[in-house]
Amino acid sequence: MNEETKSIHEFDFKLICEYYSGMKRQGPGSPEATIKALSFIDNLTNESRIADIGCGTGGQTMVMACHTPGHITGIDLFSTFIDLFNINANKLNFQDRINGMVGSMDNLPFQHEELDLIWSEGAIYNIGFERGLNEWRKFLKTGGYIAVSEASWFTEERPVEIDEFWKDAYPEIDTIPNKVAQMQKAEYIPIASFVLPENCWTEHFYIPQIPAQKNFLKKYSGNKAAEELIANQRHEAELYYRYKDFYGYVFYIGKKI
Ligand code: SAH
Repeated sequence: MNEETKSIHEFDFKLICEYYSGMKRQGPGSPEATIKALSFIDNLTNESRIADIGCGTGGQTMVMACHTPGHITGIDLFSTFIDLFNINANKLNFQDRINGMVGSMDNLPFQHEELDLIWSEGAIYNIGFERGLNEWRKFLKTGGYIAVSEASWFTEERPVEIDEFWKDAYPEIDTIPNKVAQMQKAEYIPIASFVLPENCWTEHFYIPQIPAQKNFLKKYSGNKAAEELIANQRHEAELYYRYKDFYGYVFYIGKKI
């Protein structure tokens, strides 16, 4: 990568981080969906070790902490998100139970069989669903759980426009039965899967972005990269509203055997 492209990339990165730092969540989800997914997980105690991978600023982590015992380590690639994550944990007085760390999901800082629960909302796609399930398994104790949310097709067939969009954005997107089969193949018992309700995309994700986008464009008026970023976000939201019968996020919960 030459210096010029590198600097453009770094700037884009910063812009994306800044844009999402202002949001409660960096992906589709809701407190209710987090709590529902947690309801499938038993045997957690004050001694339990939980990892939240690709935690962002910790919207879902704080909800988990209110509804589970145990210690949660949040891991995210971006230090801006981790700084906000730790500020959020302190605000809620969770500093003794929640710890945010900068790290990458392809090089996790855990011991083998250390964890009781691996959580990851809207983030496993960064490493790929199958690779994440397979590589993270060793960090779980036998009988431990994994709970991840992942973009999935609702039907066998879909309109070309949305098919092409996703095949470009994330070729590993697949149908729910295929994802469940991948979970079983990775040696987890598929305990549950459920489709995240539409409000996880609307009320909790796209709608809060509308005022944020206006402010962002004002602040970066005339900045091509910022304009492009917002145009992409808006395009993604439009596609969702048009094609939401064909895809969405699905929570997959598995138990290591
Ligand atoms: N779980 C949060 C954030 C989801 S967005 C929520 O549901 O709101 C995806 C997150 O994955 C972002 O915070 C991004 O910074 C993080 N991420 C991307 N690549 C990563 C990697 N290789 N390792 C760890 N985190 C990563």
